[in-house]
Amino acid sequence: MNNFTYTRASNTGEAIHLAGETGAGKFLGGGTNLVDLMRENVERPESLVDISRLPFGDIHENPDGSVTIGASVRNSAVAGNRTIRERFPVLSQAILFGASGQIRNMATVGGNIMQRTRCCYFYDHASQCNKRTPGAGCDAIHGFNRMHAILGASPSCIATHPSDMCVALAALDAVIEVEGRNGTRSIRFTDFHRLPGDTPHRETELQPGELITSVTIPKLDAGRRSVYRKVRDRSSYAFALVSVAALLELEDGTVKVARLALGGVAHKPWRAYPAEEILRGAPAREENFRRAAEATLAGAQGLSHNAFKIELAKRLISATLSELARKEDAR
Ligand code: SF4
Repeated sequence: MNNFTYTRASNTGEAIHLAGETGAGKFLGGGTNLVDLMRENVERPESLVDISRLPFGDIHENPDGSVTIGASVRNSAVAGNRTIRERFPVLSQAILFGASGQIRNMATVGGNIMQRTRCCYFYDHASQCNKRTPGAGCDAIHGFNRMHAILGASPSCIATHPSDMCVALAALDAVIEVEGRNGTRSIRFTDFHRLPGDTPHRETELQPGELITSVTIPKLDAGRRSVYRKVRDRSSYAFALVSVAALLELEDGTVKVARLALGGVAHKPWRAYPAEEILRGAPAREENFRRAAEATLAGAQGLSHNAFKIELAKRLISATLSELARKEDAR
């Protein structure tokens, strides 16, 4: 681990100033991923700016019906919040499917959004990794790639994004608020994380020194009719092989609103827009759910160890939509 300075910021402007313009300083919230990466010498910040005392620690409903979650709110507080559980159960469930209780109690919303891949080669300095060392190569492509991407990957990187929470926020059309030296701006959640292309070390649209301050979920009645389903190798404390965040609102047996996002399959939460297009206005029947699943995975590419995820993702999409449709029928 390299030497670094530690400073606790007392306001947002100070935090942004202390982090510097180059990205050499890192913001410290719960530290559940960043500190691990520092211990492994993957992250080597010159300075840590503790933002835990900044006023981003609450969840509130806005007059227009949207809900804003501060970047410092702990994951467990989001999952247990009554408004979130009632209006956006998919978000509460996604968080509870992630990590352990202890980690959820420490991890913040901002940190969850910024967490980095769990590709084992990324953590292993004996391996070649373009994300850790741009231009070095990617040992995962011909290595053990069971957990890796089947959608949106590139010859430079096949890593997946590890978050469950982010999959739900992508399905909910959330918006991320950020603040930097040039003021504040909003970024659509689905635009925030990047596909790897030939710059897999650039994972988000955040500029150096910019700080996530909050996430806002727009008013969305279909949010109440939502669910998160995750397939993983063991029943707790494991990352997704495939996960699905789905919202489904029916009217007389026809799909009025459908939202679908996948986790564990790509470098970013994968919003399934073609599937939503197929479902909108279609009868809520299994054959249409399967058609939506086929469309979502149409461009998928499997590698030596992860091709099984393609059919797994299709089945999980169909099963999750069927589950939601049955619940709607029972209302
Ligand atoms: Fe590195 Fe990405 Fe390759 Fe993993 S998949 S070794 S993170 S470049």
